[in-house]
Amino acid sequence: MTPALPILMYHSVKDEAPEATRALSVRPSAFAQQLRHLRDHGFVGLTFGDLWSAVREGGALPERPVVLTFDDGYADLHEQALPLLLEHGFPATVFLTTGWMPDAGRHAAGRPLDRVLSWSQVRELAGNGIEVAAHSHSHPELDQLSDTALDDELRTSRGLIEDGIGRRVDSLAYPFGYNRARVRRCAEKAGYRRAAAVSNRAAGPGHDDFAIPRLTVRRSTTLRRFAQTAGCAGLGTAFAWTAPSPRATPWCAVRATP
Ligand SMILES: [Zn+2]
Repeated sequence: MTPALPILMYHSVKDEAPEATRALSVRPSAFAQQLRHLRDHGFVGLTFGDLWSAVREGGALPERPVVLTFDDGYADLHEQALPLLLEHGFPATVFLTTGWMPDAGRHAAGRPLDRVLSWSQVRELAGNGIEVAAHSHSHPELDQLSDTALDDELRTSRGLIEDGIGRRVDSLAYPFGYNRARVRRCAEKAGYRRAAAVSNRAAGPGHDDFAIPRLTVRRSTTLRRFAQTAGCAGLGTAFAWTAPSPRATPWCAVRATP
């Protein structure tokens, strides 16, 4: 039987976080405990893209795969999380909001909720096993945009990242997880090959490539709860990988405003 595939969604790893991101900001000590748990229980980390390739293209899948993803691109991924990821031997995927970056220059767009990665930090992440992927350009509710604006959001972030790191970008995560059918079609047209949503269920091979579910890790997530989540306990079948109601996510409730 194909295993359930836990894809964990983090936002930031730091002790003191602004109110807007606090609920989704995990303390570095808790993050270290979580990584130790994964390592000690035989989990093998993959990037989001590598997991997709293994499932879709028949690559080798470890017995206990796990994917760690980070949304928005906060600077603490480089400053706090990266040393811990390297120490425990886990890769990760960052979904970057390109218009929020401090050195976005003439491309600056939107209002970041906390300090965001610079391009030099992003390149350093890319050189340390982190997949750099897109999370739109200005972090809008994509399903509220016109087709033209939607296409622009998706293509601008992808193009800037490809120029910035010199690698092809195939992975996307929808801001707030909002992914109606029109958004998913547009993402495919913009050249992405897969996209991550938020639905708090384990992923599996019966999924929609443009609505791959992830599991939220919060500041309030205890190690016990984390262990259950990573083990996909009580998360339902691994084969129901289509996102349910795109708006009914805990993520939306936490951050109703961008
Ligand atoms: Zn986001």
